[in-house]
Amino acid sequence: MSNIPKSQKAVIFYEHNGPLEYKDVATPTPKPNELLINVKYSGVCHSDLHAWKGDWPYPTILPLIGGHEGIGEVVSFGSEVTGWSIGDLAGMKWLNYACMECEYCLADKEQACDSFEFTGYTTNGTFQQYATVDYRQAARIPNSASSNIAELSPILCGGLTSYSGIKSMGLKPGQWITIVGAAGGLGNLGIQFSKAMNLKVIALDSGFEKGQFVKELGADEYVDISNTENVAEKIIEITNGGSHGVLNVSSSNQALNSSFEYARKLGKVVIIGIPLNGEFKYGVSAAISKCLNIYASSVGNKKETEEAIQFALDGKVKCPIKVVGLSELPDVYKLMSENKVKGRYVVDTSR
Ligand SMILES: [Zn+2]
Ligand SMILES: [Zn+2]
Repeated sequence: MSNIPKSQKAVIFYEHNGPLEYKDVATPTPKPNELLINVKYSGVCHSDLHAWKGDWPYPTILPLIGGHEGIGEVVSFGSEVTGWSIGDLAGMKWLNYACMECEYCLADKEQACDSFEFTGYTTNGTFQQYATVDYRQAARIPNSASSNIAELSPILCGGLTSYSGIKSMGLKPGQWITIVGAAGGLGNLGIQFSKAMNLKVIALDSGFEKGQFVKELGADEYVDISNTENVAEKIIEITNGGSHGVLNVSSSNQALNSSFEYARKLGKVVIIGIPLNGEFKYGVSAAISKCLNIYASSVGNKKETEEAIQFALDGKVKCPIKVVGLSELPDVYKLMSENKVKGRYVVDTSR
């Protein structure tokens, strides 16, 4: 443990929309329930941009080190920690702490726990070389995956969120799922998870290029909203009555509202993407006559984290990534602000 440095590199900001500074900060000390992880790689999620901007209706701490898709090695831990050893590979996801005793935690919905801490939001995250996490929320990564941890890191948020949303629909093999915003970070992983779960996929997005991309990932049908006059009619026609499940991972309010129209009777509409100041609107009597299930989902639970990681380890889900140094992270924030990110950026904390 003596080789843990007293200070380390991080990207930190002191006020919302303020400078993102790459600098030396003190290495955190784990609390009794925490692991200290030497983070090797961390994915960059769109939520990190919201944390920096401070435009969500929940406050972050300040100053803040963002990031919540980190993987690294356990280098130290507190006195209450059990089941972890120095040298184990561990992942850090959005949920950093939950009590594991309240009614939500006991229902395996620890993401709804009132005593939550969120990584890179209410507690410092993974855009630093050393970060802390409650030992029960750290994700187990087999040491055999050590050469793939950069590719694996986006599974911890983007992949898990997408997977959990799909799983919550309880669809049967051969049923239709429509993915709204299919070419995006969560959408492209959603296509892959859905195919691995033997579902039939309609990918919804706009433009020819995105169509090529989603077909390569295995989408059965592509509906290009930029040149389809009536999207709902088209999907009802393809599915012969409507989609059994709809995964909304875009941030378009209009796309969300239209998803209720082409959901099949008894269909499951899952809402994940957050339109700015978004609200959903659909006729109550129409929803009742279709017996629609509407489910708003955030991140997944512990069990789903393990399952999502296993899909990736089995090669069924691959994240297209671009690795850059932690020092280049401010440029990635800039690209995200300009909506210019394709695929997922992953930072290497060693440079
Ligand atoms: Zn995220
Ligand atoms: Zn709880």
